[in-house]
Amino acid sequence: MAYSNKIRETYLEQLKGIQDAGIFKQERFIHSSQAADIEVEFPTGSSLKKVINMCANNYLGLSSHPDVVKAAHEGLDSRGYGMSSVRFICGTQDIHRELENKVTEFLGTEDTILFPSCMDANAGVFEAILTDEDVMISDRLVHASIIDGMRLCGALHDTFKHSNMDHLEKKLQLHADKRLKVVITDGVFSMDGDTAKLDEMVDLCEKYDAMLFVDDSHSSGFIGTTGRGTHEKCGVMGKIDIITTTFGKALGGASGGCVSGRKEIVEMCRQKARPYLFSNTIAPVVVSGVLKVLDILLANTERRDKLEKLTEYWRKGLTEAGFVLKDGDTPIVPVMLFNAKLAQDFSKDLYDEGIYAIGFFFPVVPNGAARIRTQISAGHEIHHLDKALAAFIKVGKKYDILGKSKQEIIAAYGL
Ligand SMILES: *Cc1c(COP(=O)(O)O)cnc(C)c1O
Repeated sequence: MAYSNKIRETYLEQLKGIQDAGIFKQERFIHSSQAADIEVEFPTGSSLKKVINMCANNYLGLSSHPDVVKAAHEGLDSRGYGMSSVRFICGTQDIHRELENKVTEFLGTEDTILFPSCMDANAGVFEAILTDEDVMISDRLVHASIIDGMRLCGALHDTFKHSNMDHLEKKLQLHADKRLKVVITDGVFSMDGDTAKLDEMVDLCEKYDAMLFVDDSHSSGFIGTTGRGTHEKCGVMGKIDIITTTFGKALGGASGGCVSGRKEIVEMCRQKARPYLFSNTIAPVVVSGVLKVLDILLANTERRDKLEKLTEYWRKGLTEAGFVLKDGDTPIVPVMLFNAKLAQDFSKDLYDEGIYAIGFFFPVVPNGAARIRTQISAGHEIHHLDKALAAFIKVGKKYDILGKSKQEIIAAYGL
């Protein structure tokens, strides 16, 4: 027997270890489309519960927007369901190139190449453009997909302390002798909702002749006055050499990603990036949906403006109620609880109140930094936020943490 009991035991033991550590992940089945109001089956087998979704990356509320759905239907009818090919064999339609051009226009870059996902974009880009004569210097909190991409690349890897520009400068000096240098960061960091200091990073990169890479997955579509991303917010549009982003969050939420930036870099990806060369093309139905999303965003800034107002309202409400938040101004609003069990219990009580928001704790965030991460969407209305706020306050009272400082919460619950 090939799959022996010994093999089975090996895995069962590891899975038990994950369970004992209290980090066993369980899916919750949503029986509706993605929106502010969803119907959830949790735990599995229980009856459906209507809850307000406070944890989707559906920042612009476009995941189920009727115009996007309609455009996707039209794409399905005119270009078919699948391409059964990678891009360079027979998987490129006119609409794939149209989307690349539209993303280029939207981000204010020179050219764009689509990937099946942003994870794939990050997995492919470094190996395609760097060799062992080069160095990658990354922020210590970059997304897991960037870490995987760097692992696949033969260039030297070094890090700088999160958003610490002095430390970054030291590392740029340390690696001055390398052929090519790339500074690597997320635009908005997904766990804390803080924004990279791209203006200062651009200055440092100019001073030390380095390229700048930004993963704007949690920014594209809504950060900056016209939603172009972190580079717009920081006043450095046109100065980012490599932007990667996803279509799986604000930009319709289906799937797909891209590398956008200097045209030589995009061309290098077309020649060499392995997920581009060896993984199937983005489905025409998705391409058609994303094209519509970008048309909506290029027409006006209504949705990101609404998101900004709702975010202010939500942050203000939580602050006035006496919660400890992470500072910031993005729609990622972490409510700090510090203790892992408290975060889990809090999330469960919120769910009972009809609010769906997930607790995050080690190893997703550092030990002692457990939290409920809330994410605001332009699909929310004020009444959603009022209901969510009332639930947060009710549960906050239950655990007696309202108006309490970080030290007081830690004193009561431990780390
Ligand atoms: C979500 C995310 C990704 C992955 O995007 P996919 O298109 O879903 O693969 C990559 N980078 C960052 C920073 C993300 O937040």
